[in-house]
Amino acid sequence: MIRVRVIRERAGRAFSPTRIPGARWVINQYVGCQHACRYCYAKFVRRRYYYGRWGSWVVVRENMPELVRSRYVAGKVYMSSISDPYQPIEKRLELTKRILESMNKRIRLSILTKSDLVLRDVELFKRFENIEVGLTVNSFGESIKRDLEPRSPSIGRRVEALKRLYESGVKNYAFISPIIPKLTDIEEIINDTRDFVTYYFFEFLNFRAAGAEFRRFLKDKYWEAYEVMSDTERFERYVKDVIKAIRRSRIKIGGICLHHPKLIVVK
Ligand code: SF4
Repeated sequence: MIRVRVIRERAGRAFSPTRIPGARWVINQYVGCQHACRYCYAKFVRRRYYYGRWGSWVVVRENMPELVRSRYVAGKVYMSSISDPYQPIEKRLELTKRILESMNKRIRLSILTKSDLVLRDVELFKRFENIEVGLTVNSFGESIKRDLEPRSPSIGRRVEALKRLYESGVKNYAFISPIIPKLTDIEEIINDTRDFVTYYFFEFLNFRAAGAEFRRFLKDKYWEAYEVMSDTERFERYVKDVIKAIRRSRIKIGGICLHHPKLIVVK
């Protein structure tokens, strides 16, 4: 187990307005994430919280269970946007679990994680009137997964979690992200999961938000992927092909997110 620095903080409010597609509010009980994905778009929080290497610290907003108690908000609440609600520290602190226990069960909740720890709370999910639980999955092979998402649970465990949620009667969704040319095989993911996934949401890699460090890494280690990502014409062709493959597969599509990156080239 890799040590993590824990910084405790008291939040001023639980639900913050958001522009995340389909959601009205976001709840972030943690800031920072032990999963330490190289491409993580949440790294921008280091402008305010700088405690060192991404993945080595987590801010814990310990008063969140009190803040959500008896508070109702209309519209979908998304959990979470700048952390993973089921990152390893959650096993010990049970902060997400206590929030779910305190939360008004009429709130429309959408949870997204990369961890099968989420299965611990299945019985709690069932108490909500309107809830969906998503797992981020991809088709990265072992060594690519180690490079890009070094400390998250294996993709196999996440696929299994989707299956167990489905079997428990909890509405689930697969978040296919980040879609990276040459590294992501959309058809393989769909074939492996279509029997037990309610719907799919797709997101192409946001080359800008992934940061300069990640762009350099991709250029050095996954040159072919970088070449497509940094060439507008080739990237647009790639996007069209992927969208065609998605449409051919006759699955339920929640959305396809493309960040329209401007051409980004590493010098
Ligand atoms: S799991 Fe999500 S929030 Fe955590 S490091 Fe990875 S991309 Fe970022």
